[in-house]
Amino acid sequence: MRAVLLGPPGAGKGTQAVRLVEKYNVPQISTGDIFRANIKEGTELGKKAQEYTNSGQLVPDELFVDLVKDRLMQEDCKDGYLLDGFPRTIFQAEQLDKFLEAQGQKLDAVINFEVGNEVLIERLTGRRVCKSCGASCHVKFSPPKVEGVCDRCGGELEQRKDDSRETAENRLAVYEESTAPLIGYYSETGALKNFNADQDPNLVFAEICAEFGA
Ligand code: ADP
Ligand code: ADP
Ligand code: ZN
Repeated sequence: MRAVLLGPPGAGKGTQAVRLVEKYNVPQISTGDIFRANIKEGTELGKKAQEYTNSGQLVPDELFVDLVKDRLMQEDCKDGYLLDGFPRTIFQAEQLDKFLEAQGQKLDAVINFEVGNEVLIERLTGRRVCKSCGASCHVKFSPPKVEGVCDRCGGELEQRKDDSRETAENRLAVYEESTAPLIGYYSETGALKNFNADQDPNLVFAEICAEFGA
C-alpha cells in the first residue's frame, strides 16, 4: 500500500498509522517525527531547520521534499509506505508526483481524515506524547493507565509545545490555507478517499480497512 494520510493536525493520522503499519506491514513516514528527531539530535538538517524557525521564517518546502525523497529510496519502502504529514502544500504534492513518476509508481490512495475544528482543538490540547517511544495518547479520550506514564513503554509523557491552544489554532489556520487545497488536487487525480474521523478510532480503522481489503 502506497498511501498518503491527509488531514488537519489532531485528526488522528498518527493514531491510525500505528494500526495500519501493523496490518499492512509498511513503514509510516512522518515528516513531523523526522523533523523533531533531527532538531533534538542536532543533525545538519536539524540545524538548518532551526535557523529558519529561530529567525521566524517558515521551513522551506524543498527541505521536506529532499528529506522524503531520500527516505522513500530506502529498502523498507520498496513495497509501500504511509506518508503522514507530507505532502503539506501543492508544491510538495507536485514534487512527490514527479518523483513517483520517475520511479514508475503511483499512489494507491490519499486517505482524507474529516473532523471539525472544535473537536480538533480538544484533541490537540489534550494530546500527550511519550518522551521515549513517541506514542501518543489523550488525557480524556485515551487516558494512560497511570497518569503521566506511557502505557506502551513506561516512559514519561509530555505535551508537545505546539499543542498549546494558541499554537494549535494557528496550525489549523495554516492547514486551511496551505494544505486543505490538496483535497481538490487529489480528488482530480482520483486518489482521494474521504473518511469520517470524528468517531471511535476502532471504527475509523475498520472503515479504512474495508476500503483497502484484508
Ligand atoms: P495527528 O497525527 O493527525 O495530528 P493524532 O493521531 O496524534 O493526530 O491524534 C491527536 C489526539 O487525538 C491524540 O491525543 C489521540 O490520542 C486523539 N485521537 C486520535 N484519534 C481519535 C479518535 N478517533 N477519537 C478521539 N480521540 C482521538
Ligand atoms: P501534526 O501531527 O500535529 O499534524 P506534525 O508532527 O506532522 O504535526 O508536524 C509538526 C510541525 O512540523 C508542523 O507544524 C510543521 O511546522 C513541520 N512540518 C512537518 N511536516 C511538514 C511538511 N511536510 N512541510 C512543512 N512543514 C512540516
Ligand atoms: Zn512510550
